Amino acid sequence: MNIVDLRSDTVTKPTPKMIRAMFKAKLGDDVLEEDPTVKILEKKTAELFGTEDALFCPSGTMTNQIAIKLHTQPMSEVICDKLSHVYNYETGGIAFNSAASVRTLNGDRGRFTASELIENINPDNIHHPISSLVCVENTTNKGGGAFWDFQEIKKIHHVCNLHKLKFHMDGARIFNALTETKLNPAEYGKIFDTISICFSKGLGAPIGSVLLGNKQDIERAKRIRKVLGGGMRQAGLLAAAAIYALDNHIERLNIDHERARHLGETINKLPFVSELLPVDTNILVFNLVDSYPKEKFIEKMNNNQIKVIGFGKQTIRMVTHLDINDKMIQKVIRTLKLL
Ligand SMILES: *Cc1c(COP(=O)(O)O)cnc(C)c1O
Repeated sequence: MNIVDLRSDTVTKPTPKMIRAMFKAKLGDDVLEEDPTVKILEKKTAELFGTEDALFCPSGTMTNQIAIKLHTQPMSEVICDKLSHVYNYETGGIAFNSAASVRTLNGDRGRFTASELIENINPDNIHHPISSLVCVENTTNKGGGAFWDFQEIKKIHHVCNLHKLKFHMDGARIFNALTETKLNPAEYGKIFDTISICFSKGLGAPIGSVLLGNKQDIERAKRIRKVLGGGMRQAGLLAAAAIYALDNHIERLNIDHERARHLGETINKLPFVSELLPVDTNILVFNLVDSYPKEKFIEKMNNNQIKVIGFGKQTIRMVTHLDINDKMIQKVIRTLKLL
């Protein structure tokens, strides 16, 4: 059997049908705003989330970093959870790109409350950085795929309005959240100033993210994308894959969630696992007991052609995705029981 790669949902390869859609795409120079397929993707995502406009970018890191740049000035502060991707996994980009500082909150699996936010907004005083932007991540990656309660998001939005804070959602896995909440994406579009969505995670496209927002912000975002080196020429090739993914790979996400839960039932019973975070979507995060070193676990899995990723001191992450099937899940379960 092939290698079972559970390291991330980014490891998927484009399907033959997706590749066919890519090769059929009409192309132009997108820096000159002449790529018809990129335009279709931007229009389609903006309509889906009910925002005025959208911008296609090479990565989710770039869409997040553009949003942070849009909503801050040097000496600003970004407020986010301590587990968030914008803080942990974007190479210190908040400082590098935006010369802003970060206030991290101690949330529950990457989700904080409106009252925790209120306590962390700086008073208007020259000693403090200026609280400017609030970022939420949905679903949370380091929080084990947890999705947010929409009522709490609305409360946070209310606080943002009162304190004139901008509100950004890192929705790299927003379609996984939507699969569980059954919310209309436009509900998010109404609330957030900007939303970043990824096609290269659960949706299975090779490359690409979109930043959603109003006309004015997206117009400025084009300039920031350019200075970051993210202007792409015949990008319709990639946009076609994203369009195909939107049309064909959203409805199947519940299968990934079901497989993750199934795997979770086994992991929960393993004697060398001390804690598994609740499995809410397609991500499993669990801790190994101290007597079972993480490196040994990863090596044993690798010896069985199963790839997983270390995610902290004794922590392992597994992610289900488009290229994982039931037979592979059975193999992983069999292997885990014999470790
Ligand atoms: C993957 C991911 C991103 C973006 O990552 P890229 O690899 O730059 O596309 C952003 N936020 C979260 C939560 C992610 O998991």
